[in-house]
Amino acid sequence: MSSGNYNIPRSVKDSFHRYTMPRLQAKIEGKGNGIKTVLPNIVDVARALSRPPSYPTKYFGGELGAQVQIEEKSEKYIVNGAHEVSKLQDALDGFIDRYVLCAVCKNPETDLIVGKDKLIVRKCGACGERSNVDMRHGLAKYIVNHPPPKVKKGGQHASAGNGNASGSEADQGDDYDALAQETAKLALADEDDEDWDLELDMSDEAVAQRQVATAAGLSVIDRHNSGADNENEDSDDPYDQLGDFIRATPEATDREIFTKATELHLGKKHRAVIVVILCLFEESTTVVKDIAKHDKLLMSFGTSDKHQRAVIGGFERLIEERQDALLAKTPAILKALFDEEIVEEEAFLEWGKKPSKKYVDKDVAKKIHKAAEPFIQWLAEAEEATDSEDDEE
Ligand SMILES: [Zn+2]
Repeated sequence: MSSGNYNIPRSVKDSFHRYTMPRLQAKIEGKGNGIKTVLPNIVDVARALSRPPSYPTKYFGGELGAQVQIEEKSEKYIVNGAHEVSKLQDALDGFIDRYVLCAVCKNPETDLIVGKDKLIVRKCGACGERSNVDMRHGLAKYIVNHPPPKVKKGGQHASAGNGNASGSEADQGDDYDALAQETAKLALADEDDEDWDLELDMSDEAVAQRQVATAAGLSVIDRHNSGADNENEDSDDPYDQLGDFIRATPEATDREIFTKATELHLGKKHRAVIVVILCLFEESTTVVKDIAKHDKLLMSFGTSDKHQRAVIGGFERLIEERQDALLAKTPAILKALFDEEIVEEEAFLEWGKKPSKKYVDKDVAKKIHKAAEPFIQWLAEAEEATDSEDDEE
């Protein structure tokens, strides 16, 4: 029973399935308090999933309420206590569902990308969808602090390997670019407000510099967490804390969310509204309706031109992350922002002049602008009509 392969996921019964993984093995060793379950082939299983072996191991610990021992150099992966292999394999199914399979097409050929905003997405090599990982699950924090090995341009994963999920090599350059762009975008968003209109320098030199900066950023996170095994580390970035709060407290009222933002000194920050939009609407299937429900919250951070532009930017980011579901709804989303008087006509017309990569990739910005055309046109016509009425009075 311990030999042979399973499909990824196991629920696929097709015997010609492209994606398989070795059956997990578990060896119980020791006695009494020292009893432990050694995972002799977790490295191979993890390789088939293109994930570091520490992730499923840590996940087992969380699911089974057990301590784990991870020694990457000697490839020792151990769950304390005695655990049946069937229980572990069941837990592995959960891991695969949450951290491997594309949320849309259920294909396992995905890469995990940890953004500088500490959000994790699964980027699918098959359908291109970027699906969010549930940040409330315990492993998510571990992954943020131990990000997956970088994907080298045109190369292989530094150590996770590709297993038999082959065919994704060609896409890896894109993934790396996506990561770099994501980071560059966030770095830009971190600029002081004076630099708000700064266009992103996309020269090779500038891109290379940003990549170095990214690596430095990640090492800071690593250093920050290099004490004992950090289970309770908390980011001290207030924007992260606000996002964590919104995700961890789905029952929070708008007032409570704004109170939290104020406590974090973000009550007047236009960038805070972006975090609110991304976290509050990330799984909403009724975005247009929900905008009306949260209108006060979306305006409470401020209503200046800059704030209005940030609201549009937040929704651009949201549309970017959920393109399949939301790109076609762009005009309805923008119209809802207009109807609720969250964003005014002038701000939309200014935004509509040309696609900007202030908040999203240029290509995405172009797509969103294209999708927004009916709304912008309607708005322009409505304005003309109003103007001529004003003239008559
Ligand atoms: Zn997919």
